[in-house]
Amino acid sequence: MSEEASEPGLEKRSVFHDDIFEDRVALITGGGTGLGLEIARTLGEHGARLCIASRKTDNLEAACRELEEEGLDCMWVACDIREPEQVENVVSETMNRHGRLDIVINNAAGNFPAPVTGLSYNGFKAIVDIDLRGTYNVTKAAFEASLKKNGGHIVNISAPFQNQGVSLQAHVAAAKAGVDSLTRTCAVEFGPYGIRVNAIAPGGMEDTEGLARFADAQKEIQGGGSNPLGYIGSKRDVANAVLFLVSDAGSYITGQVFAVDGGAGIDMLKMNLPRVD
Ligand code: NAP
Repeated sequence: MSEEASEPGLEKRSVFHDDIFEDRVALITGGGTGLGLEIARTLGEHGARLCIASRKTDNLEAACRELEEEGLDCMWVACDIREPEQVENVVSETMNRHGRLDIVINNAAGNFPAPVTGLSYNGFKAIVDIDLRGTYNVTKAAFEASLKKNGGHIVNISAPFQNQGVSLQAHVAAAKAGVDSLTRTCAVEFGPYGIRVNAIAPGGMEDTEGLARFADAQKEIQGGGSNPLGYIGSKRDVANAVLFLVSDAGSYITGQVFAVDGGAGIDMLKMNLPRVD
């Protein structure tokens, strides 16, 4: 098990048995890098067989090798989630190899900082296409191929700022607001099929492209290091939240968007008060 610690001195061991997803198959989009890779690793460490999918075969190959060297069962399929046929191919390759698909993590997304007037028409469209339409494409393909028959789980990786006004993120905020909406609608429509659908809204997480791309701006917006818990969360913190939601521990939870941000989103004044013992 990885023991990546975010809170200094706090060892992060799993509170779940390592076979809770035995015989389950998980598809993680954007699973070759960052949060997606850590989510894949965490599900794999708990018994899931993995399929990771994104555009860059180098990243996918390297990530798959890394996971296999850790003893996990992983396959990869190259795919641009904007293209329904490529998405259907990922799902059918997964079904061909494993005969089932139980857990879908819609993690792939694009991002770049730009003010509303600095965005090109295509720039705005590209992000909505990847983050929102991509999430829809994968959800629909997985539902049709397996989930509607066998039930399962969908977790959409959202963002923390779409319910507020946030500079430089009009395109992402609009797309992720759509993802949150899709999460709730799918939860309502898929509930009768035994499918739970939830979303995680990470804050700025340590050692990720998401945080690196924004550096100071992101830290300020999302309160990295200045949240009530007082430290920037790790990739494992997000992966653990996903793990909880798709495990039986989350059995009565659906249609929710959970912030995993150390409380940054609810800390309005960000005064960073010291403890008063
Ligand atoms: P990342 O490493 O850049 O991950 C994004 C992944 O999406 C990459 O693996 C990328 O792979 C894939 N991707 C992008 N466009 C794609 C497309 N058209 N088709 C298929 N795959 C595509 O960034 P991250 O920071 O881990 O972010 C992961 C998720 O967390 C995103 O949904 C992001 O919005 C969310 N998030 C992250 C943070 C953070 O602090 N890191 C905060 C809030 C929300 P390819 O390039 O190979 O396609």
